[in-house]
Amino acid sequence: MNAPEPAADCLFCKIVAGDIPAEIVHATDTVVAFRDVNPQAPTHVLVVPRSHYETAADVAHWEPSAAADLVIAAAAVAVKEGLGEGYRLVFNTGPAGGQVVPHAHLHVLGGRALGWPPG
Ligand code: 5GP
Ligand code: ZN
Repeated sequence: MNAPEPAADCLFCKIVAGDIPAEIVHATDTVVAFRDVNPQAPTHVLVVPRSHYETAADVAHWEPSAAADLVIAAAAVAVKEGLGEGYRLVFNTGPAGGQVVPHAHLHVLGGRALGWPPG
């Protein structure tokens, strides 16, 4: 587990700080939700903790309330986006899990039928 450290070169820290633009759809004291630049579904939003942690497990270990806030914010996004039929939440973790950006982020996907198992 890695404790939060300053992450000057982190893309999502820069989005949280407002130094890189993003379409913010929801924000609280602890998390920020913004549209994915390369959407994989009609709704594709990323919910990130304001604090820098690499993985979802790190968030849960060091700041458990923020881990809950990610899921609660995802549900608020789903309501705002009209995803009453359902949606999918994904934490890609590590290279084999498809994680490219090393700042924990919860994908919120919806607006189309989502296949299972995922690719
Ligand atoms: P991962 O593969 O790490 O789970 O997901 C990273 C996500 O971040 C990808 O879906 C990718 O499209 C998205 N992404 C990468 N760069 C940017 C960016 O500069 N702005 C936004 N809004 N999304 C980004
Ligand atoms: Zn970061």
